[in-house]
Amino acid sequence: MNDRKSPASLDARGLDLHYGGTAVVHGANLRLEPGRILALVGPNGSGKSTLLRALARLHEPAGGTLELDDGVTAPGDALALKRSEFAQRVTLLSQSRPVPNGLSVRDVVEFGRHPYRGRWRAADPDGASAVAHAMELTGIVDLAGRGVHELSGGQLQRVWLASCLAQDTSVLLLDEPTNHLDLRYKVELFDLVHDLAREHQVAIGVVLHDLDEAADIADTVAVLSEGRVVASGPAHEALEADLLSRVYSIGIVTHADPITGRLRTRAVGKRSSALV
Ligand code: ADP
Repeated sequence: MNDRKSPASLDARGLDLHYGGTAVVHGANLRLEPGRILALVGPNGSGKSTLLRALARLHEPAGGTLELDDGVTAPGDALALKRSEFAQRVTLLSQSRPVPNGLSVRDVVEFGRHPYRGRWRAADPDGASAVAHAMELTGIVDLAGRGVHELSGGQLQRVWLASCLAQDTSVLLLDEPTNHLDLRYKVELFDLVHDLAREHQVAIGVVLHDLDEAADIADTVAVLSEGRVVASGPAHEALEADLLSRVYSIGIVTHADPITGRLRTRAVGKRSSALV
């Protein structure tokens, strides 16, 4: 990531999201800000992915507004921006992506530069350095010439992340980015996300399953339940035991880690002593 980009915020107000005639997200308010990490948590089916896709303009809202403010031009309706202009500012690492046959790792990372290329493949002077930097950050330089269909799930996940980073956007959306990653790459990914926010002022929205990971990394945690944001704030406020127990329909207790002081959650089964 270089710092050519103006930091940007993305503000969703009252988003209603439907599939066909069925409403799955109701009046969601979320704000992504430069240098800050927002984690979206909630049970399966609560609407996290749909909401993230709507922030990336991959799901058209039935109601509500999405505003992008990059501090340069007047804050504007993100839904009215040209696709390529929006894609220079906002990118999404989605959960499942097709594995393109016959493409090399470098090809896929270079694909991240698509918003900067015109129909006639106009010059993209920053492209080569953005691609090289993204591959370095994600530790895939050695894989550059390999076919993506030969890669492990974890390697592929890093290639897709590199493709997003090469896009060099001010807003980065990540849907369960630690899927398939082993412990080392998981820790490295969180370090990278933290650096992107703090050092490069990227605004980050991330869907996470693991509540402790959300508490570790996020400035703000938003809890989704049945398509509604039912809590939003710092982890120690939003991840409140009674609320979580209701939302996840299972007993959940919380405590502060005695060493780090960070919030920890623990699900307990029907027998309160049985740890899950
Ligand atoms: P989460 O990411 O929290 O697991 P999703 O956003 O994937 O939740 O799903 C929210 C709701 O929307 C669920 O009820 C799910 O069944 C429904 N849904 C998701 N994708 C589709 C789709 N392509 N068509 C119809 N319904 C969908």
